[in-house]
Amino acid sequence: MNLSAATGSAAPASPDPAALQAFQDLLAGNRRFVEGDVQHPNQDESRRRALESGQAPFAMVLGCSDSRVPVELLFDQGLGDLFVARNAGHVLGRSMQASVEFAVEVLGVQVVLVLGHESCGAVGATVEAIQKGTTLPGEMPILVDQVKEHLDPADPTEQAVETHVLGTLTDLRSRSLIVREAEEKGSIVVAGAVYGLGDGGVRVISGPEA
Ligand SMILES: [Zn+2]
Repeated sequence: MNLSAATGSAAPASPDPAALQAFQDLLAGNRRFVEGDVQHPNQDESRRRALESGQAPFAMVLGCSDSRVPVELLFDQGLGDLFVARNAGHVLGRSMQASVEFAVEVLGVQVVLVLGHESCGAVGATVEAIQKGTTLPGEMPILVDQVKEHLDPADPTEQAVETHVLGTLTDLRSRSLIVREAEEKGSIVVAGAVYGLGDGGVRVISGPEA
């Protein structure tokens, strides 16, 4: 099922073969992780030295800070492979959007992946805030308010994690001209996925594999 169409976000152009291959490479790394067949690539001294003069990561991941979702580990990647930006609940504030744009425009990544995960505390806190009217202290409402925008107020639990990933994708496409143009040109794959804490699998819910 194409959930990106269901949420009304932009129809992705057909990506360049190189961008599709980069997306496949990312998913292949996760399959190695799931199967316990990890290669731990690009983590030795020669790789460190080679990266001293610059980086050219192939994918950008916008994910949740949850300690159980370490991006390089679950995609079996190494130094210089992924440009990763995380905050609690992967909410798309301005600095997060700027980080995605830096990855696309300056570093030339070929994949932008929004990565949510099962049992996300930020999504759970938002569901509770909607249902019980609770308010978190400090600056934390900034996170909850942005997750809240994506959830159904009548039934915030309904597929909340997936709904929030798709909402973040829609926000990204609607707010960022850089991302939109790169996607329309076919130079990047933009996708959304949910990570399973127990099985370790990354399930694509919007994008070429969905
Ligand atoms: Zn989370």
